[in-house]
Amino acid sequence: MTAFAPEVILLDDDRWDRVLAATRGEAAACFQCGTCTAVCPWGLVAGPTIGVRSVMRQAQLGVDGWAEAAWRCTTCGACEARCPHQVPISDVMLGLRKLAWDEGAVPEGLPSVMWDLHWDGNPWGRPPSRRSAWAAGLDIPHFDPAVHTALLYIGCTASYDRRAQKVARAVAGLLQAANVPFGTLGDDEPCCGDPARSLGNADYLAEMVANNSRQFREAGVTNVVTVSPHCYDTFARHYDSGEGGFQVRHYSQLLRDLVAEGSVAFGGLDGQTVTFHDPCYLARHHDETEAPRAVMASIPGLALNEMSRSRSETLCCGGGGGRMWMETPASDRFAESRAREAAGTGASLLATTCPHCIACLEDGLGLAGARDLKVIDLAELAMLAGPFQPAAATNEGAGQ
Ligand code: SF4
Ligand code: SF4
Repeated sequence: MTAFAPEVILLDDDRWDRVLAATRGEAAACFQCGTCTAVCPWGLVAGPTIGVRSVMRQAQLGVDGWAEAAWRCTTCGACEARCPHQVPISDVMLGLRKLAWDEGAVPEGLPSVMWDLHWDGNPWGRPPSRRSAWAAGLDIPHFDPAVHTALLYIGCTASYDRRAQKVARAVAGLLQAANVPFGTLGDDEPCCGDPARSLGNADYLAEMVANNSRQFREAGVTNVVTVSPHCYDTFARHYDSGEGGFQVRHYSQLLRDLVAEGSVAFGGLDGQTVTFHDPCYLARHHDETEAPRAVMASIPGLALNEMSRSRSETLCCGGGGGRMWMETPASDRFAESRAREAAGTGASLLATTCPHCIACLEDGLGLAGARDLKVIDLAELAMLAGPFQPAAATNEGAGQ
């Protein structure tokens, strides 16, 4: 019989104070049921699971042991959606990352992402002068508050990534088809701060929010429409929407409204079957699952076959929580499992509404060998369906 050897935990009051301050004491409500560990998608892949329950205990006690787990978290929110005590687990994870920044203990490669943000205004280290290259030939005006009701905010990934640039072009094409008066900030568009936020660098995020808020205020921006759910989340949760601030919508929400008010309709996509992957940053962090479905339902001839894990039960693609800037071994990518699930619906199209999800899902399809399935953004799907302005539509107020 093996002798029981209890683990000795040494408590350090200073350390406890620092952990508590960084996590704002948000792990306090955890009563160690373990539901979070059971539902975390890291349990689906070959690598070790994240001991989420243990991390919450370590955050309560102010002890170490969380470093590896905190950086692997994709902040997908699956755990906190099931937590019986509503512990904001992903915020606790980001708080622990903040502590790691404060103590100079972040994984190799991440400080250079912050330097890219500082010098180039994007986390990809691409030249600011190429930011609006996605719009080549589209004749998109610079935002003017006197004539435009909305600022279309493209975001860093859709500005520079060649695949995601097609999504930006499709979103712009839809707004043009619906005659929405909109403009962009062109090469002057700043990063919203999501890379700093999702990597836990709260101090740098605060600096970016202050600078961007000033720029948007001086430009007369009152309504923002984003391409990415990550930019949407950052603007919605970290920027002022009150006096002098601005309202924000994800483009799928604007498109739903344009369809509902009769400002845009679609020719059709006869015989096409689509399945839909809900991005975590819309479905779980903002409870938005119906806007993209309302758009798809308005496309004549298009059939939707849902995956079993859909809406708030969606499976993370693996690209959130700053994981786009960290290496994930092929055997640990959730998107392969998601691709198999999507292929099982018999659909020929796997639609989503997030540039990060597109990159991960396309990778997942390759890993799963699901060659008959094609990843498509909702905006691209809607453009394929032939958007047009119904004759009765009045353009006045579109996009308000
Ligand atoms: S699900 Fe909530 S209460 Fe249960 S262990 Fe996880 S954080 Fe604690
Ligand atoms: S947010 Fe997602 S990845 Fe992070 S611990 Fe929770 S379930 Fe796991």
